[in-house]
Amino acid sequence: MTTIKLHNTRTRKKEEFAPLDPENVRMYVCGPTVYDRAHLGNARPVVVFDVLYRLLRHVYGPDHVTYVRNFTDVDDKINARAAESGRAIGEITAETTQWFLDDMAELGALEPDHMPRATQYIPQMVAMIEDLIAKGHAYEAEGHVLFAVDSWREGYGKLSGRTVDDMIAGSRVEVAPYKRNPMDFVLWKPSDEGQPGWESPWGRGRPGWHIECSAMAYELLGESFDIHGGGNDLMFPHHENEIAQSCCAHPEGQFARYWLHNEMLQVEGKKMSKSLGNFFTVRDLLETGMPGNKGVPGPVIRYVFLLTNYRKPMDWRQASAVLAKRRLDIWASEVAHQDHLRSELNSDVEAFIRSYVDQNIVDALCDDLNTSLAITHLISLAKSLEGSSRAKLSSDQVEQANKRLLAGCALLGINLFSYGDFEDGVMLHPTLSDEVIRERIVSLVWERQDAKKSKDFGRADEIRDALTKAGVVVVDTPQGPEWDVGPDFDPAKLEALK
Ligand code: AMP
Ligand code: ZN
Repeated sequence: MTTIKLHNTRTRKKEEFAPLDPENVRMYVCGPTVYDRAHLGNARPVVVFDVLYRLLRHVYGPDHVTYVRNFTDVDDKINARAAESGRAIGEITAETTQWFLDDMAELGALEPDHMPRATQYIPQMVAMIEDLIAKGHAYEAEGHVLFAVDSWREGYGKLSGRTVDDMIAGSRVEVAPYKRNPMDFVLWKPSDEGQPGWESPWGRGRPGWHIECSAMAYELLGESFDIHGGGNDLMFPHHENEIAQSCCAHPEGQFARYWLHNEMLQVEGKKMSKSLGNFFTVRDLLETGMPGNKGVPGPVIRYVFLLTNYRKPMDWRQASAVLAKRRLDIWASEVAHQDHLRSELNSDVEAFIRSYVDQNIVDALCDDLNTSLAITHLISLAKSLEGSSRAKLSSDQVEQANKRLLAGCALLGINLFSYGDFEDGVMLHPTLSDEVIRERIVSLVWERQDAKKSKDFGRADEIRDALTKAGVVVVDTPQGPEWDVGPDFDPAKLEALK
C-alpha cells in the first residue's frame, strides 16, 4: 500500500501515517463560525483538507474514510450580528451556512461525511463538562465553569511547545477575578435574557468555544482518532484547549494522533482576517476577481491555492489567477471534445483516478501534500501534448496522456469537464504568435531575473513596471519566472523601455 507522510505538529516531524483502523480512517477539521460570507483565508483550510480527504480516499478507498468538519453556530460574533441587524440568530446561521457550502462547492471541495453544528450537541457538551468537574479538571465559579490548567500541567502546552508559565507571561488573556489561574479557560458561561442559552446544572448559559470540537469529535469519531486539522492560528489556544478537555475527559484515549496545520493566506504580508479589515470574500472573487471585473472560476482559485504548499504562507495575487486560468483553459480545451472520456470520468471519478492517475502525482501528494510538485508534474504532462512534442505521439499515446491529465486534475479536485469557462482553442491571445514580440518579452523577463540576482532592484522594478503597463503578467515560481499576456495586452507600451 502507498505510504503517506505527514508533518505532525505534535512531534514537529514528518512521519509515516499509520491509521488506527485502515478500514475507517478518521479526520476532524475545525470549521467556520457562521455569521458572514467566508473570506478567502477561510477557504484555505477547506481546500487543503479536501486534498488530504481525496488522497485518503484514493489510498484507503472512498468507503473507508470519515471526515468531520463542524459549524460553530453559537458565538458572541453571531449574537452581535443578530443584534445589529435585528434578524433572528437561526436565520443568520442558516443563511451563512448555506453560503459557505455553496462557495466551497465552487472551489471543488467535497462535503465532509458529517457537518455537525454546535447547537445540536449542547447536551453532549454539558455531559463532558460535568465529567471534567467530577474528575477534578474543571470548577464552577460565578455561573461559569472553567477548565483548570493546573490540573493537567503535564500536558497543557505540548502541542504549541509552551509551558503554562510561558503562556501566562506572553498572554493577554482576560484575568477574571473568578479564575484560579489566568490561563484557565471557559467551558460554560451564563447567558443574559436576550442571549441564546440552555438550561444546565450551572444555570441558563452557553458553551465556551473550545468544548464543541471536543464533544463533537468524541461523539462522531471516538476517544482516539487519526488526524486533526485547522489553520495554524488555531493551534493556541483553541487546539491546546481541545486536547486538554478531551484527554482529561477520556484519559483512556489519545484524542488526535496527527495534527496538521495550514499556514495563513496573507495580503501584503499580513494574515487575511475580518478583524484586520484586509479581507475579500470568496464570493467577491468568484464574481469580480479578474481584470475587467470578470469572475475567477472556482477551479482557478483552487489551482492558485495548490501552487503553494500548505505549510507555507501564501499571497493571493491576481497575476497568478490570470496565469492559472490560461493553463486550465488550455487543459480543458485539450479534452473538451473527448466525449467517451467525459462519460467515463463522470460516471465514477474515483475509479477513473485509480485507473489512470500518474504515480508521480500520487507520490507528490503522499509527501506531506506537496501540491506544487503535483502541479509541476501535470504541467510537464500537458507540455508533452503541445506543438512539436505532440507531433511525435501516436493517437493512442495522446489518449493515454489525456487520461493521465484528467485523472491527475481530478485527484487534486479539478474536473476539467466541469471547468466550462474557457475559450475553445489553445490560442487565446493570437497577438503572441508574433515571434518578435514573444522574444522581446522573454528577454525582458530574464533580464529582470538577472537584475534581481545581481541586486539591481531599480532595473528589475523598471522592467516589471513596463511589463505590467503593457499588460504582461509575470509570476515568480520556484521553477523560475512564468509569464503570459493579459486581456489588455499592448505591445506598443514595451517600446518605451530602453
Ligand atoms: P474562523 O471563522 O476565523 O474561526 O476560521 C475558520 C477557519 O479558517 C480556521 O481553520 C482558521 O484557521 C481558518 N483561517 C482564518 N483566517 C485564515 C487565513 N488568513 N488563512 C488561512 N486560514 C485561515
Ligand atoms: Zn476546533
